[in-house]
Amino acid sequence: MRFTSTGGSGAESDLTTALHSGLAPDGGLYHPTFLPPFPPGFLEELGGDPAKVGGAVLTHLLADEPRLPSSTLDQVTREALDFPLPLRTLGGSWDDLWLLELFHGPTLAFKDVGARVMARLLEHLPSRAGPLTSDEGEPGGAPPPSTVLTATSGDTGGAVAAAFHGLPGTRVVVLFPREGVSREQRAQFTTLGPGTQALGVEGTFDDCQRLAKAAFQDPDLRTRHALTSANSINVGRLLPQIIYYVHAWRQLPSGSPPPVISVPSGNLGNLTAGIMAQRMGLPVEGFVAACNANDTFPRYLATGRFEPRRGTPTISSAMDVGDPSNLPRLQALLGEAPTVRRTIRASSWSDEATRDCIRRVYRETGTILDPHTAVGLLALEALDGDEEPAGHQLDRGPRPRILLATAHPAKFRSEVEPLIGESVPLPPSLADRLELEERITPIGPTLEALKAALERA
Ligand SMILES: *Cc1c(COP(=O)(O)O)cnc(C)c1O
Repeated sequence: MRFTSTGGSGAESDLTTALHSGLAPDGGLYHPTFLPPFPPGFLEELGGDPAKVGGAVLTHLLADEPRLPSSTLDQVTREALDFPLPLRTLGGSWDDLWLLELFHGPTLAFKDVGARVMARLLEHLPSRAGPLTSDEGEPGGAPPPSTVLTATSGDTGGAVAAAFHGLPGTRVVVLFPREGVSREQRAQFTTLGPGTQALGVEGTFDDCQRLAKAAFQDPDLRTRHALTSANSINVGRLLPQIIYYVHAWRQLPSGSPPPVISVPSGNLGNLTAGIMAQRMGLPVEGFVAACNANDTFPRYLATGRFEPRRGTPTISSAMDVGDPSNLPRLQALLGEAPTVRRTIRASSWSDEATRDCIRRVYRETGTILDPHTAVGLLALEALDGDEEPAGHQLDRGPRPRILLATAHPAKFRSEVEPLIGESVPLPPSLADRLELEERITPIGPTLEALKAALERA
C-alpha cells in the first residue's frame, strides 16, 4: 500500500514512512493512494474470530509489503486482538439494533484496537534511516530505541501506553494536563512502571499538544530520541479499525440487508475507517456520525462550510473536538459535503439528551451505556426523522442498525452512576490498576522542561 498526502504535494510514501512520521512532510495526512476491493467471496469466507478476520483484512490491505507476510500479520492481530469484540442485540424496544462492544481491551475503549495493532506493526517495520522520513536504505545495525511521545486529554494516553508498553526497544512518554484527567483514565498510564513515563504538565491539553508538536518539529530532539508519534491521525491506528467493521458485518445473521452503522465521533478517525471498509466493498447502507455539542462536522454537512471551533467540554469528553482532523481523509474518500451526505448523516446532541438516553436504556434493558455510546444511539434514533430529499435518503428499513460502543461505562462511572442509581461494576483490569501506585513527573509547560524530562528517563 502506498500513501499520498492530503496536503496535495503529490509525493508518495510507503507504510514504514507513514507509520514513523505520522504527518506527511507537507503537513497533510497520509492517505492510501488506492483501496484494494475485497475479492469475490473474501468477506463470505471469513470466520467469527476477530483476530483471524484481522489477519485476513490486513494481509489483503498490505499485500505488497515484503516485511509483512500473512504469517506475520496473523501473529500481529493474534497478539493485538486478544480480547473479544462481541456484537449483541440491545433488546427492549430497539428492534434490530446491534451493539458492537469495542471496549473489552486493556484500556476499555475502541482505541485499544488501533493502538495495539500499530504498536506491533512498528515492531516489524523499524524505521530505516533514523526516525525521519527517508525512504531509502536498510538499517546498518539495530535501530535506536524509539520514544513514543503522545499528548492526551484522557483516553489516548492510556491506549497508546498500554499498547506500546513492554515492547522491546520502545519507551512511552505521555504528556497530560495535571488537572482534568480522571483517576480511572490516569491509572492506565501512570501505573505501568519502567518503560512508560507520565509527564503531568502544568497547563491544559492544548499545552500538551503544543509541546508534543514542538518536540516533533525539533530535528535534534527527534533524532536523539527517535521520536515516534502514535496519535490518532497515524495510518497505523486508522487502518486496523477497518477490521471490526468487517467483523461486525460478518456477525450479523446471514442474509441480513446491508446495515446502517452509527459511530460516536470526534476526530472522525473511526468513521473514516468505516468509510474505507465500505469503499473496499463491505456492504453498508450508510453511516451516522454521532457528535456531542462539538458540532463542527454536522454543521459542515448541513452548510458545506468547514468552520472549526475551540472544543467545548462535555460528558462525552473523548469527542470534544472542535477541529476534526480526519476531515481531509473523508473528503478524499467521498468528495465535498453534498456527496458526503449521500453516505453519512451527522447530528449533534446535548449532555442533557445524553443523560436521558443513558437512563432510558438502563431502565428498559438493564444495559449501561457510556456517554459516547449514548450519543451514538441518539443519532441512530434520529434517522427515523431523516428529512433528506428523496434519492438522498438512506434506505432505512427493514435493515440492521449497528451502534459502535466505543467505551466501557466504568470509565465514566462518576457520570453514569448517579443517572442509573447503581454502581457500575469495575472490570478486573481497571480495578487492579486503581490499586497500584501512580508515578507522575510534574513538568512546566515548556519545551525546555520536556527536553530535560526526556533526558532523565
Ligand atoms: C476517541 C473516542 C471517540 C471518537 O473517535 P474519533 O475517531 O476521534 O472520531 C469516541 N468515543 C470514545 C470512547 C473515544 O475514546
